[in-house]
This record gives sequence, C-alpha cells and structure tokens, in this order.
Amino acid sequence: MRRMKRWIRAGVRRVGRLPAWLLPVVLVLLLVSPAVTSAEGAGSRTVRLQLLAINDFHGALQSRTLGGRPIGGAAVLAAYWDRWEEEAKKDGFTTLRVGVGDLVGASPPVSALLQDEPTIEALNRMHLLVSAVGNHEFDEGVAELRRLQEGGCHPVTGCFEGAKFQYLTANVVDAKTGEPLFPPYAIVRVRGIPVGFIGVTLKETPTIVTPTGVAGVRFLDEAESVNRYVAELKRQRVETIIVLLHQGGDGDRRGGPISGAIVPIVEAMDDEVDVVLSGHTHRGYWGIIDGKLVTQAYSSGTAFADVDLVLDGATGDVIDKRARIVDTYADVPPGTEPDKQIARLVARAKEQVEPIINRVVGTAADDITRQQTPAGESELGNLIADAQRWAMGTQVAFMNPGGIRADIAAGEVTWGELYEVQPFGNDLVKMTLTGAQIERLLEQQWLNQPYPRILQVSGLDYSWDPRRPVGDRVDPADIRIGGQPLDLNARYTITANSFLAAGGDNFSVFTEGQDRVVGPVDIDALVRYVEQLPQPFNARVEGRITLH
Ligand SMILES: [Zn+2]
Repeated sequence: MRRMKRWIRAGVRRVGRLPAWLLPVVLVLLLVSPAVTSAEGAGSRTVRLQLLAINDFHGALQSRTLGGRPIGGAAVLAAYWDRWEEEAKKDGFTTLRVGVGDLVGASPPVSALLQDEPTIEALNRMHLLVSAVGNHEFDEGVAELRRLQEGGCHPVTGCFEGAKFQYLTANVVDAKTGEPLFPPYAIVRVRGIPVGFIGVTLKETPTIVTPTGVAGVRFLDEAESVNRYVAELKRQRVETIIVLLHQGGDGDRRGGPISGAIVPIVEAMDDEVDVVLSGHTHRGYWGIIDGKLVTQAYSSGTAFADVDLVLDGATGDVIDKRARIVDTYADVPPGTEPDKQIARLVARAKEQVEPIINRVVGTAADDITRQQTPAGESELGNLIADAQRWAMGTQVAFMNPGGIRADIAAGEVTWGELYEVQPFGNDLVKMTLTGAQIERLLEQQWLNQPYPRILQVSGLDYSWDPRRPVGDRVDPADIRIGGQPLDLNARYTITANSFLAAGGDNFSVFTEGQDRVVGPVDIDALVRYVEQLPQPFNARVEGRITLH
C-alpha cells in the first residue's frame, strides 16, 4: 500500500508536464502495483477486493455525539479501517481505501482554521488511495485545491506536503484547454487484476459554490464523462470499474430502492460500471441501480461503506459484489482503541487553533439571546440577519431560527463563541425575489411547518395575524422594505444562507430566486460584522416582526 501511494505521487508530479491525453497512460504505468508477483496471479480462480469508502468527511477530525454515543473522529475511523482490513485479510481480501469528495470544506475550526491541512494529513496516514472531488473542495478555489493535492505554501499555515492520495476529476476540466483538472481515473492492480477508479463531481457544483471557487474550470455531464473513460479503461482491458461519484440520493441500509438525483446519472452510465460509491446527500444506504451496486455512508466519518468484491481471475470482471454501511461508534471496539498517531495529530491541530478560537472579536454590552417575542423576533436573530445583509450588500436578509445554535453572553465575545452560534458552515447566497415572492415566502412560515417557523429578518418589517388562516396571515400592505411599502411587482435583492437558498425548512420560494451569487461562509460574515461594530455592541428587538 505505502509503496503504491508513492508511485501515485510520482505520477502526479510527472503528469504535470505531459499533454492531457497522456495523463491516463502515465497513471496506468505508475499505478501498477508491485504486488503482481503474489501467489494468486491473474488467471487463477478468483481475487477478493475490499473497498472501504468515506464521503463528505468535512474535516471531522474529532468525535461527535449521536444518540448520546460518541461516534467518528479521524483516529476512531482509522481504528475501524485497520480492523476491517485485518479481518478481511484473513479471508484473502486485498483492501483499498477511497474517498468520495467533500473530504475538506465546511469543516469544524480544528481543521478549517488550518486550511484543512490536518485532515489531509490524517487521510494520508489512513492510506487513502484515491478520491473524487466534491463541491466543497472548491470552496477556496482551484489554486488552493491544487495546493492541498500537490503541496505548497499558504500565508496562514506555511508550507505543506500535500495529499498522498490522488484526487480524480473526469468531469472537471480547465475552462480554456478542456483538460481535466486532475487525472480522470486511476488503475490499480490487485493481485494482477486491473481495477479502474473514475472520479466525478456533481455538475451543479458552480451553482452551490462561490464563483471565485470555480473560476477557471467547467463541470461536464457526470454520466457522459464516466462513459468516455469507461471506454478508455475497456481498451486497456480493465473490466472492474468503480465510480466515485460526488452526488447522491436517499435509500436504506438493507439494499432497498434508491431515490433522488443520483438515479438518472447511474442509469445513464455504461453497464461496464460495477460499483458507484456516492456522496453529497449525507445519507446512509446501499442498493442496486441498473445492475450497479451503489453506496453512501452518511457524513463526517460517522460511518463508512464496506464493499466486498469477488473478481474473476480469468476475465478480470466482478462476479460477486456486496456492501454494508458500518457505523464508527467510539464506545465499542475497535473504536475504543483509536489510532495513536492520528490522535496525536488531531491533538496538535487542536492546540494550534486554540489561540484563534479564543481570539476576542468584540464585547457584548448585554446578553444577546435567541429568545423570540410572541411575534417571532429575537435579538440574536436580528444581529445575524443584519450581519448577512451587510456582508452581501442586499436590501433584505432572512435567517432560519433553527440555524442559531447558542446565545451570546454579555462581556468579551470570542471567535469560538460566535462559531457556537453559527456552526454549520453555510455559505451566504444573494438572489433577487419579487415583492410577491417575498409575501409568499412569509406565508410559508406557517405552511407545512411543524410549528410556526419565523424567519429572522433584516431590512424588512411586517406584522402578522395569528387569527387568520394559514396561507393568509400576512397582509402585503403590512410589509415594508427599507421603511417603504412592499411593491409586489418590484424586484428586491435578498440574502439567505445556502440551506434556505436550497429550499430548506420547506421555504421553497427561495429556490425561485434569480441572479444568484454565493458569498462568504456565515460565520466569517458574522465575525467581520461584529468586529466592525462600535464596541461594546448590542442587538435589540425593535419591532421588525409584530402581531396584528
Ligand atoms: Zn457535496
């Protein structure tokens, strides 16, 4: 495994100077594992291959709590993978560890504040082999993604060695040259049998990432791109083909049907594709779509997919495939014995970010709380909505109350305290809504909601009547924007976070918004806003939302 990875790195360095059409060829040459001399060579009966896969790791270096139990964390995941590999080895399996994108980005501070370098290092130590690129890998632009892959220096973190695993991008190409950003595929020889991995990213990535993040690259159709490289792999007599697809759907862990955006993509893929490891929707499932085995393993390393394949030694194709999704609980073996090296790496990262997390960004004159008035307005909601409107320069901002996770206590306010308030790492999205759409949006606060979900607002005030029927609680005449009466036909610029912008919490009107521009992460906007306020700062309920 170790040796193979060095070969990949050598390949990466060398391919930089070669024409694009040679990329796959070079990878083929360099990825040929020295393990071909093993006793069970090609031509013998069967070869067993185990794939261990994570998707949407999002820099989750530390364990978290799920249902009252500790789960995940890089050192715990590593312990699980080592145990799984060890057990499978007894049954003659060769194990390869792969990623399905969003390994970095939207990360907790312990990783995000260090440019996600500790996460890349942890994955290096976990012997990750290849990964698809997710949308979040583009959060800080192509140059930073290249630095994470190839190594290089950053003003905040200094110099960094880069990933020992290889990112694969079959459908992400240079806007000018049309060449893939990274190799489209890799071929790994497993006991003499060539196994192909193709990496693809959801083609909608530019609509969910800030424009500067995807400047200079284009995203092509997922299935078409896969099929193009399947043909290439076939010409090289690769019969076992695994697609790492950063796009997903929903399903269950018992092999039931899979639904969602992934279905038509997998159906359009060449039948030579054997397995599709998916991601992006953070769900846990495995199942069959169009004869292909499809998996996803939640997110943040709280689970992984274990895919066991039996390959025909003569034909090199898959003759048996099965999968399961494994939870990585830390309170049962092997999670109780986390990898020591990786635990040290995480502890070091935690120490490094402590000064940043403890940095004072302002002083609150008073407690600023989420406590809502009977009409639904809160001090902290006002502060956050104001920060988002300020950061994006729009007329109005809307913030979902469920996204405000802690109060601000009077006194010095640290970066870490603001992070507790806004921990989701949502991007801010600017868009245009008509006055009529804003009116419908406000009505959605009571439509298909488990309880009145009153959005926190900035730049807008209105009153609503709890005695009127759902769907008709706000009179347009009672809505004012920037102090002026709402014009149903006018177009207004508004800000919402990426969760709402995608129609989250049943606020589907946001999906109708035009002229979308993605901006900074919500926590960054809040920090910068608080920093520039006169100190000590405060926020008050000021009658933005009132009852009729
Ligand atoms: Zn994603």
